Amino acid sequence: MGLFSNLFNKLRSGASLSAADWQEVEQSLIESDLGAALTHRVLEAARKTGQSATESVIKVLHESLSTADRGIKSFANRPATILVVGVNGTGKTTSTAKLAQLLKKNNSKVLIAAADTFRAAATEQIQTWGERLGIDVVTGKQNGDPASVAFDGVTRALAEGINFYIVDTAGRLHTKQGLMDELGKIRRVVEKVSPVDEVLLVVDATTGQNGIAQAKTFLEAVDVTGLILTKMDGSARGGIALAIESATGTPIKFVGTGEGADDFAPFEASSYIEGLIFG
Ligand code: GDP
Repeated sequence: MGLFSNLFNKLRSGASLSAADWQEVEQSLIESDLGAALTHRVLEAARKTGQSATESVIKVLHESLSTADRGIKSFANRPATILVVGVNGTGKTTSTAKLAQLLKKNNSKVLIAAADTFRAAATEQIQTWGERLGIDVVTGKQNGDPASVAFDGVTRALAEGINFYIVDTAGRLHTKQGLMDELGKIRRVVEKVSPVDEVLLVVDATTGQNGIAQAKTFLEAVDVTGLILTKMDGSARGGIALAIESATGTPIKFVGTGEGADDFAPFEASSYIEGLIFG
């Protein structure tokens, strides 16, 4: 059920809203993970405008979106390097594979690095994806240095005329300093030979308010250029990503909608906001 389905049905039928109706709306907003600031703005807009609440709420939500570019940089003469970061279990490895598939389908040459050397199954998981999708995966030793895998990969990407080099990083959320050191080292080592162009943070639509705290740690530790919002095929409406985008200006760039290779698409503002409201 979307944020306002009940409210809008009532407004459309011409009924006036009771205090209980407004309470229901407020509760729904809180459960949507939009966060306090955005919830307040949306509620104000809906209260003020009565009959035309749908339009004004849509307007408020659109205005809370970032104006930043949602595309992925690409270059004619060198690979674009993309680091995929996020907490374990959010869908980082799956999203790495799905992004690779999307770029490959657009006729780009793609290479993946399995730099999550800490989680036992991560390398195997991304290798399986690579075989299935026909995309090469650079791997290293388990518990080896993730930066060294990332370096091997970028060297290969340069030598082989790769268009997009995607690095699946480890998602250990120990301390901000630890995270900064780990991701900072990967970036430094890769940048010895070629720039890092994108850092995409994976945000799980189902994690709720906890996701905001997780995202904050990553945003403070690394220079995140965009969000990948995963698990939008479930019942979660993914308001959390809008809360992060509106608070930090970091744009949602892609949305994951399932476990299959093609369940992934560039973010589309209107359908996302409609889903949030009418669900
Ligand atoms: P990582 O630990 O962050 O690398 O997470 P994984 O990529 O291993 O994903 C964790 C689980 O979430 C796996 O079972 C994935 O199949 C699942 N998953 C990832 N993205 C999505 C999505 O968009 N929708 C659904 N339903 N499941 C997803």
